[in-house]
Parts: sequence; C-alpha cells; structure tokens
Amino acid sequence: MPLSILINGAKGRMGLELIGAAAKLGLTVGGTVDVGDDFAAVAQRCDVIVDFSSHSATRAMISFAVAQKKPLVIGTTGHPAAEKMDLLALAAKIPCVWAGNFSVGVNLLFALTRRAAAVLGSDYDAEVIEMHHRFKKDAPSGTAARLLEIILQERQLTADALRHGREGITGERTSTEVGMHSLRGGDVVGDHTVMFAALGERIELTHRASDRAIFARGALRAAQWVASQQPGVYDMQDVLGLK
Ligand code: NAD
Repeated sequence: MPLSILINGAKGRMGLELIGAAAKLGLTVGGTVDVGDDFAAVAQRCDVIVDFSSHSATRAMISFAVAQKKPLVIGTTGHPAAEKMDLLALAAKIPCVWAGNFSVGVNLLFALTRRAAAVLGSDYDAEVIEMHHRFKKDAPSGTAARLLEIILQERQLTADALRHGREGITGERTSTEVGMHSLRGGDVVGDHTVMFAALGERIELTHRASDRAIFARGALRAAQWVASQQPGVYDMQDVLGLK
C-alpha cells in the first residue's frame, strides 16, 4: 500500500505547494485539512501527518498523533521558546521530524554556519539577517532562530546574548552578543544571511529561496523517511544524513 499523507493547513501557501509537489512526485495525499475541518476524522485514515498550519494548532495535533501513533512532520513555526520545549517532549513519543526549514540548501547553511562560528571565534561579530514576504505572521523566522541557536551553541552563549534589532543609544557592540534582524516586504519567499564581521574582513553566508516548492519537496521526503523511524524528534539534518 502506498504511504497515505495528510496535509494540515492545506489551503495555505505551503499546503497548496505540498499538494502540487505530491502530485508531481507520485505520492498519495490521503486527506487535506484546514480551519473548520474535522482533523481527527481525516487523520485517522492517513499514515503520516504533514503540518504547515498555525502554531496554535500544534499541541492538539501532537496529542492526537501520540494517541493514534501517527508519525508527524512539523513545518509550522512561531512557537514561543518555553512552549516549544514542552511540545518537543510530547512529540518525542512518536517518530517526528520537526524542522524550521525543509530546504536542502538551508540545511547546508546550518552546517556551514556551525563550522564558521567554530573556526572564526568571538572576534568575529555574528549577526543574523532574514527577509520574508509581507504576509508572514511571525518573526524572526524559524530558520533564523535555528541559525542563532547554532551560533549560541558553538560560542557557548546563552539566550541572553540575543539582540533583536538595535535602537537608540545602545553603546558599543560587545563580543558576546548576537544580532537578529527581521525584514518584511513584498513576495520574498525567504532570504537568510549569517554575517561574521571582524576588524579588516567580513564573511557572509547567504541562502535565498525563490520557490516554496523546495520546502514542500523536503517535507515530503521527510514524510517518507519518518514513517519507518523509531519514536523521537528528528530534524532535516537526520533526514538528509548530514549529521
Ligand atoms: P498560510 O497562512 O498561507 O497558511 C496556513 C494555513 O493553515 C491557512 O490555510 C490556515 O487557514 C490554516 N490553519 C490555521 N490554523 C489552522 C488549524 N488550527 N488547523 C488547520 N489549519 C489551520 O501560511 P504558510 O505560508 O503556508 O505557512 C504555514 C506555516 O509554515 C507557518 O508557520 C510558516 O512559517 C511555516 N513555514 C515553514 C517552512 C519550513 O520549511 N519549515 C516553510 C514555509 C513556511
């Protein structure tokens, strides 16, 4: 039997991409759900749930997946940090791929950022810059949050190091802060730059997404992969074998 995939948030930008990408890849979409639909009734007859809806829907969806032992792929972003810890613990009871970005290129950017942060050291000021379309509801993006997390890990800094934008008399920049800047406008699918600036040189690692299909293809690849995994929370680095 082919794997039957449920798409949650099916009427959204990503939902529509997922439906289109599944058709092109010959995968079976067994059900689609959006606001107002009976999620449980549709999800019961599917093998794996792929979610690109709203962070407010995540807890109920994970609880359902745990109760029904359904593998999950979560692409939704915007969860407050404290809530996300709790949700990750719940999701670990089933096989779950949770990634702030499903593109292969961005996952390579994650690996390159880790390497650069380790090699360059704290003399190189790290700043994360992201830009997305005017309709995006959360900031910073899940991808930018992950890039920040990688830099903090490599530099052994805590979340206190984060500086969201800068305004007013901020004083000189310290070597233990990491800047985060979210730009919004137009139809930009998703740009991310990690900058490491020292006295005399600057390195910028940039990824630009121009087509949402990259996220859809990655999420569907994750759906096929997660269906045969043991319980636990995985990310796209696991799916791509980049760890
Ligand atoms: P969107 O607003 O276009 O679509 C979201 C859809 O979810 C809408 O149709 C909405 O009606 C539906 N929805 C809202 N609440 C729901 C609920 N409780 N149950 C079912 N459906 C519900 O947004 P989008 O651009 O498609 O993005 C969706 C999410 O995916 C966002 O959090 C976005 O940041 C994230 N995203 C992640 C990646 C990635 O690679 N991880 C890529 C793109 C977008």
